[in-house]
Amino acid sequence: MPPFISTRGSASPASFEKALLEGLAPDGGLFVPETVPSLAPARDAEAFPERAARVLAPWLDDEIAPGALRAIAADALDFPVPLVPLSGDGPGGETGVHVLELFHGPTLSFKDFGARVMARCMAHFMQEQSDALTILVATSGDTGSAVADGFAGQPGIEVVLLFPEGQVSPVQEQQLVARRPGVRALAVDGPFDDCQRLVKAAFQDPDLAHLLLSSANSINVGRLLPQMLYYVWALDRLGDEEVVFCVPSGNLGNLTAGVLAARSGLPVRRFIAAHNANDFFPRFLAGDADEFEASERTLSNAMDVGAPSNFERLRWLLSEKQLRECIWGASVSDEATLRSMRRVYDDVGYVADPHTAVGLEAVRRYRAATGDRADAPERLAALWDEETHAEPLAPTTEALKEKLLNASPDRR
Ligand SMILES: *Cc1c(COP(=O)(O)O)cnc(C)c1O
Repeated sequence: MPPFISTRGSASPASFEKALLEGLAPDGGLFVPETVPSLAPARDAEAFPERAARVLAPWLDDEIAPGALRAIAADALDFPVPLVPLSGDGPGGETGVHVLELFHGPTLSFKDFGARVMARCMAHFMQEQSDALTILVATSGDTGSAVADGFAGQPGIEVVLLFPEGQVSPVQEQQLVARRPGVRALAVDGPFDDCQRLVKAAFQDPDLAHLLLSSANSINVGRLLPQMLYYVWALDRLGDEEVVFCVPSGNLGNLTAGVLAARSGLPVRRFIAAHNANDFFPRFLAGDADEFEASERTLSNAMDVGAPSNFERLRWLLSEKQLRECIWGASVSDEATLRSMRRVYDDVGYVADPHTAVGLEAVRRYRAATGDRADAPERLAALWDEETHAEPLAPTTEALKEKLLNASPDRR
């Protein structure tokens, strides 16, 4: 059974290979998995790449043989994924908060996970093709360098990067324009949203139809699915307890991958969508936004997205009501981001970059708003000491009716 369908519902179902190589569904929608497989349980002493291959396999409907998938994961995910507990009793109280450090890959952002796995999956399928593949990608910084690195030197694949000139950090720009085999960088005179619009239009342009074009943005399922892996990895390390994941967000790819992982059985209590001033999504969750806005530049520039493309996927995966129940939104200004960096350093000695700082500030607000503190397990533990009074009930309507018609023993 082909596993991917379009969010817009009028494209025929596609195999993983097709969804991966075409990027966008022919009806302009985003590919989404038709069914959600259940999460493979963790095994003792399993390294990240092996765990990754076992989690991914059912989503790919075994289109890549287990041995080949293990080899892809081993080659792509050959860097550490530490889960760092913050500790300290400062006024902010970071007790119980962990930082999942996703910046130990070659280009220092979590984009490496998706980009490296995707590039190797594409190269795997391109082995049997004679034409070359052109990867078209719009980037606000981190994506482009990860994609360029992930694809550089892969045979039969050329990468074209569009980035907003002068709107990425100097280090990122340097990473983007660095010469790499098979990679072209195009500096666009306009914001990231323009880059994204151009890429979308290119895919629908009949004049370009003869090119074998593919995307490598977070809209590509090949990039999205590997982003589930580190949520699984983090929860494996934390045990079976339900956790709250706070996700510094822009294009909502990471959050969507987390939601997919949760749908497949990962015990997530709730997600926090931590945004900077580009706050369409938190405003949507609060019920006061239904239109995208132009993006605004901030200190956490990899999150400067006014029109998050994965919003369409999230809306497809969850109803509006479910979205509001499962996801708590926050918008953090640049001033608050700087204060957060300072506070976290003073309180617990952790150096947070602006994206992480947006996330940690959102965690602080979430805890203040919900009273969700690290001592919750103790309060729950106290529950077990209370005297209990439950009556056994056979699973039949009759049994229930009988209970309801007879007064409870307490009131007799
Ligand atoms: C890309 C990126 C984000 C935003 O992730 P999305 O999947 O686009 O929501 C946040 N932080 C960092 C460091 C990033 O590179």
